[in-house]
Amino acid sequence: MNSPLYADIIIEISHEHLDRPFQYIVPDELRSVLRVGDSVNVPFGRSNKIISGYCIELKDTPDYPEDKLKSIIDIRTGEMCAEGNMIVLAWWMRSHYGGTMIQALKTVIPVKKKMTVKTHKRVDLTVDRDALSVVIEECEKKHHTARLRLLSALMSEPTLPYELVRDKLGVTSPTIRSLEDKGYLRVTETEYYRNPVVTDEQAHTRYELSSGQRDIITTVINDFDAARPGRYLIHGITGSGKTEVYIGIADETVRRGYQVIVLIPEISLTYQTLLRFYKRFGDRVSVVNSSMTQGERYDQYLRARRGEIDVIIGPRSALFTPFTRLGAIIIDEEHETSYRSENVPRYKAVNCAEYIAGVRGASLVLGSATPSMESYYKAVKGEYKLFTLEERLTGGSLPMVHIVDLRDELRSGNRTIFSDKLRELMDEKLSRGEQIMLFINRRGVAGFISCRSCGYVVKCPHCDVSMTEHRGGRLVCHYCGHTEPMPKTCPECGSRYIAGFRVGTEQIETEIARMYPRARALRMDADTTRERGSMEEILRSFKDHNADILIGTQMIVKGHDFPLVTLVGILAADMSLSVSDYRAAERTFQLLTQAAGRAGRGEHPGEVVIQTYQPEHYSIVTAASQDYRAFYNEEIEFRSLASYPPVRHLLEILVVSEDEDEGMRMAQTYKTIADESIATAEGQGYSIGPAPAAIARIRDRFRHVLYIKHTDMEELVRIKDAIETYVRNDPSRRILTFFDFD
Ligand code: ADP
Ligand code: ZN
Ligand code: ZN
Repeated sequence: MNSPLYADIIIEISHEHLDRPFQYIVPDELRSVLRVGDSVNVPFGRSNKIISGYCIELKDTPDYPEDKLKSIIDIRTGEMCAEGNMIVLAWWMRSHYGGTMIQALKTVIPVKKKMTVKTHKRVDLTVDRDALSVVIEECEKKHHTARLRLLSALMSEPTLPYELVRDKLGVTSPTIRSLEDKGYLRVTETEYYRNPVVTDEQAHTRYELSSGQRDIITTVINDFDAARPGRYLIHGITGSGKTEVYIGIADETVRRGYQVIVLIPEISLTYQTLLRFYKRFGDRVSVVNSSMTQGERYDQYLRARRGEIDVIIGPRSALFTPFTRLGAIIIDEEHETSYRSENVPRYKAVNCAEYIAGVRGASLVLGSATPSMESYYKAVKGEYKLFTLEERLTGGSLPMVHIVDLRDELRSGNRTIFSDKLRELMDEKLSRGEQIMLFINRRGVAGFISCRSCGYVVKCPHCDVSMTEHRGGRLVCHYCGHTEPMPKTCPECGSRYIAGFRVGTEQIETEIARMYPRARALRMDADTTRERGSMEEILRSFKDHNADILIGTQMIVKGHDFPLVTLVGILAADMSLSVSDYRAAERTFQLLTQAAGRAGRGEHPGEVVIQTYQPEHYSIVTAASQDYRAFYNEEIEFRSLASYPPVRHLLEILVVSEDEDEGMRMAQTYKTIADESIATAEGQGYSIGPAPAAIARIRDRFRHVLYIKHTDMEELVRIKDAIETYVRNDPSRRILTFFDFD
């Protein structure tokens, strides 16, 4: 007789016992058919009431004495398997990212809401093109930019989805109505969604794909057809035709009767991009975004489940679209940090996508101009098939990059935030009526200490990350806890100008107003974009040339095309290098590459000025030459020497407590659990810390971190499980524990 098989069952979603599975015996007759994700009937509780649940795991050995286990009654047929898939996914997420099963389920399944009758609106042009061009000219004269945007869009596409016009073109309902009143267009509402984009002949002229593009699509689809769906990484600069490849792969996949998820960071979900998808897929494509209500989200969920759409486009949550025949997951700009969730479970979309694609037999296609170290490492190891697209199809040459050493500026007596070179170029571009972007890299720079004379940054002697200033003038390392007193003079050059670095966008704005009183400047940072839609408004205004200079933080470097920008100034390029994070160089390289890529997108060649204290740092040198491969080679060396991901895996454990000592003790206990587990496991690993976290106290709660590095990700998962079990058995309500992998 075979050994009996056991199944872990999650009881129905509405039930409160979601947080742990219940184990059941799989009866003989179900052994060959029961699969993870199946819906089953089981006896539950004292009364053995029959309720339904989902199978989340199958096991050869029981976790409990066998005589304590009941048997599964049967498999429910006719159930949508979509729900089952989502539950299996939630279980996987919970075990890999921590948190409760309920939190994981809420992440992957939208809360049930009453269905509203969904109507769809579209905007139709009602005058002919000649008449329209007269109106367009008039709007141009009067600077009616919103009308101009809409009418120009209608010039190329006489019918447009209403949401696209409102949300992406940024044309308000009153404006649309006033144009309707004038008789230029008509808004119609239908209960069913029909292909709103009526493509005319112009749209049918598709490009001849380049051989590089064709090669990618063919490879992906051939692998898929051979039932060997693969994982691919497309490394290609902006404008190299990646989006066209995504559309091609999606198209071929849909033709075969499968569905496709396309993730695009919200900030890059532009009108132009969406229109390209609408044109190809019409009413079979749908878009989700973070501003949708729960009802709207649920609506999309049902449409996908019923098979009414083939392609979904959206930010990371679109990954949880319950397609029943998923054929491909495509992730654009896969390196983006917005693909990591800030909420529990703190999942990473790329990793989840890899898991989902594996389970569902779908292709996984990642694309980026600056791939994450993790993905490129996998490509180099052969886990992903790597494709490279090298030429810019839109023409335009790479910008000319000047690296300015800020130490030289200070030595020659320039104490302003602008180097002589940058000023000279700003004068030149402004006098020619061209546009400028000034970018200050301020990602997480609070608290680090640097020398204004030589750029020296105080770093931990053990971890090679910057030390952070704490109250009382002590410097603390947030990886290992090493502390030392705040130096009075720079250890490198003896200068007294050593302090925390505090230059912001506002300061730049003031300086610009002083230097160029007649230039029009816009500022974009966390303060000026708090209101919904304000970011789009600023970007649009700049694009419409209502300003000469755009000053901003990392937000300004993404996505958008500004053909009139011929100069990009990066004011303190190495600031992000000093962040106490092992990814500092990677982030810096990505930001600089993207920022530099903003210059010279139009017919005029662009110039870039990178101001830095570390002109010889590899992330700056390679970004200036736009040489990803050179950057990768240097960086992977560092990661491997210092045992950081992707070469080693990293688990961060955050302990939040009301009592500082108690928190520290708990973190020590976790360290002991981890060390014991590592000692008995295969592979190599060790723990570092515990130490106070980067932000050591929030709302009077103390935060300690402990890091565990290991060659094997699954060992880190085991350590997390062991700690969770420990916490469950000794629930100290006053202490919270959070886990974060890599
Ligand atoms: P990416 O996504 O890499 O930025 P896109 O797919 O958006 O690149 O392509 C950049 C531009 O080149 C777009 O305007 C697109 O319409 C155009 N394009 C894409 N593929 C081709 C091609 N094979 N021939 C000519 N133009 C192309
Ligand atoms: Zn110094
Ligand atoms: Zn340290």
